[in-house]
Amino acid sequence: MPFPKYDLHCHSTASDGVLSPPELVRRAAGEGVEVLALTDHDSVAGIGEGAREAGRLGIRLLSGVELTASWAGRMVHLVGLGFDPVAECLRDYLEELDHLRLERAERLAGKLMRKGMPDLLPAALEAAGDGQIGRPHFARALVDAGLCDSEKQAFQRYLGTGKLGDVRMPWPEMARAIGVLHDAGGLCVLAHPTKYRLTFTRLRTLINDFCNAGGDAIEVAYAGIKPEHQRELLKISRQRGLKVSAGSDFHRPGSPWCELGRFLPLEADADHVLASLL
Ligand code: AMP
Ligand code: MN
Ligand code: MN
Ligand code: MN
Repeated sequence: MPFPKYDLHCHSTASDGVLSPPELVRRAAGEGVEVLALTDHDSVAGIGEGAREAGRLGIRLLSGVELTASWAGRMVHLVGLGFDPVAECLRDYLEELDHLRLERAERLAGKLMRKGMPDLLPAALEAAGDGQIGRPHFARALVDAGLCDSEKQAFQRYLGTGKLGDVRMPWPEMARAIGVLHDAGGLCVLAHPTKYRLTFTRLRTLINDFCNAGGDAIEVAYAGIKPEHQRELLKISRQRGLKVSAGSDFHRPGSPWCELGRFLPLEADADHVLASLL
């Protein structure tokens, strides 16, 4: 039996995506996706609404989340899949992340103000609405205030890695995030490994530590990954006995390279993908 068409990484208005969970699910169904995991940043708030819409459309919505965590003093993203979305351990953990994100937003706004900008916290909070606040909401606020021409420019100038707005926070350690996801009955995937600007030697160390901490799978298919990097990650995952995952990391319509359900085709055996979820 071939696997259904799936996408195990995408965002809604519950974090920095622009479609509401039901809109996202409708779009995924329209793209032929049969199994979708909604993986908002540090939030599971969209899952219930998304699952109801998925039920109406006859597709499956898996519980998901993209957790912000730290490894060796830098920020990494961990995708949790297939957990109990109302597990108490996860709820407590996400509450910590709510506080950290809000504190980061306040500090980010303060840093921009010391550069002579107006206080952008209210506008960023408004852009986030009910969703988890993040740097993309500051990007929108910077554009709306006429301080940047585009969100891309806002990241290049102020928000991207190493820039003023890249506020360092004590995000929970990777091993703890893995433990919480397991306690909630889910699996943990190392998100987009080639996006951390690590050398492959350093990336191997990250994957080693991830594996030793009980991590389950690594993403090997997503927007922007090069075929030769996918081959290398497939090789490493086989060596380490890790499964592989794939997802578009969709945030908004209009970027054809990361449409829902679309990513570099993945050549992996049935026992190498996250078959238990599909
Ligand atoms: P945060 O979760 O607040 O740390 O923000 C990270 C999010 O910002 C990512 O998930 C992307 O959606 C977005 N992002 C990161 N870098 C860029 C960039 N250079 N241009 C546009 N969006 C970006
Ligand atoms: Mn994002
Ligand atoms: Mn990410
Ligand atoms: Mn993502």
